[in-house]
Amino acid sequence: MDLKTWVRPNIWSLKPYSSARSEFKGEASVFLDANENPYNAPYNRYPDPLQWAVKKRIAAFKGVPAEQIFLGVGSDEPIDLIYRVFCEPAVDNVVAIDPSYGMYQVCADINNVAYKKVQLDSEFQVDAAAVLNAVDERTKAIFLCSPNNPTGNSLDRAAVEKILNTFAGIVVVDEAYIDFSTQPSFLKSLHRFPNLIVLQTFSKAWGSAGVRLGMAFADSQIIEIFNKVKYPYNINRLTQEYALSMLEKADQVKAWVALLLQERSLLAAALERLPVVKKVYPSDANFLLVRVEDASGTYRYLVEKGIIVRNRDNITLCMGCLRITIGTPEENRQLVEAMKNLKTK
Ligand SMILES: *Cc1c(COP(=O)(O)O)cnc(C)c1O
Repeated sequence: MDLKTWVRPNIWSLKPYSSARSEFKGEASVFLDANENPYNAPYNRYPDPLQWAVKKRIAAFKGVPAEQIFLGVGSDEPIDLIYRVFCEPAVDNVVAIDPSYGMYQVCADINNVAYKKVQLDSEFQVDAAAVLNAVDERTKAIFLCSPNNPTGNSLDRAAVEKILNTFAGIVVVDEAYIDFSTQPSFLKSLHRFPNLIVLQTFSKAWGSAGVRLGMAFADSQIIEIFNKVKYPYNINRLTQEYALSMLEKADQVKAWVALLLQERSLLAAALERLPVVKKVYPSDANFLLVRVEDASGTYRYLVEKGIIVRNRDNITLCMGCLRITIGTPEENRQLVEAMKNLKTK
């Protein structure tokens, strides 16, 4: 991949801010270079701008070299960076599957980049030919999400590979829900596709949405450019320490995932038995897309009972659908109990 032809010229030639912490890396006993307060250690010091300790741990865990990892304030940061690095405002465009995660379009709108949607088929599958057909000479990136939000299914692997092999620009595969999926991650194929960016996050399986920590995995050339453009100290010290402690708890995360997968099938079965439920779609994620008789009415009824689900009634292909996150066994029981009392018309 000739990356230079895909990166905005001003970004390619950008001379990044050189922080005190990046100019001197090494051991010393007296730090008088960053105008920090010498008291209140360790939080008086600026954090590692490239978060090497965390990345080394993630590298070992995921089997990806640390140089191919970018850490952001949620996945939202790398999503925004993709636009800022590759897309010239008011000139370039991206192509994305529809329906999918709302932030892709919001970031496109903020960056004034045209957002071209390609509808999934009735089974929520991606048509590689249709996606490639939507590409023009100003298309810089294609956004795919697998397992997809809000549909819950994994995208057909052969279709994703076809897009990766045919389109020469950036292909994003958002794997926020990969830990709940039976499908293998595209991380294992990273070395085969220099144009691939895989997104993962601590917000779902890792139970850490509150700390805002997302990961992007890509060719080290792409990661270097992201590092140039990001805020120098985007990931604070508390978050880096917290991430290291969570990475020691991978067994706990595995146990949560196993429990949530078991609850997902129990909840799907319980919902399918309810007269108001028309269809529970297959899910590879920690939520169920459920078609009901009256989505907006059901949504409001559940709100009154103090139970909040996501109303997807107005989303492409999701008419009449609610997106229901898998909760604890007790939370799921309360949901089913409330829905049992809903009368069909
Ligand atoms: C929840 C979610 C994310 C996570 O975003 P963060 O900013 O990391 O919390 C990313 N992509 C999709 C598709 C999601 O549903």
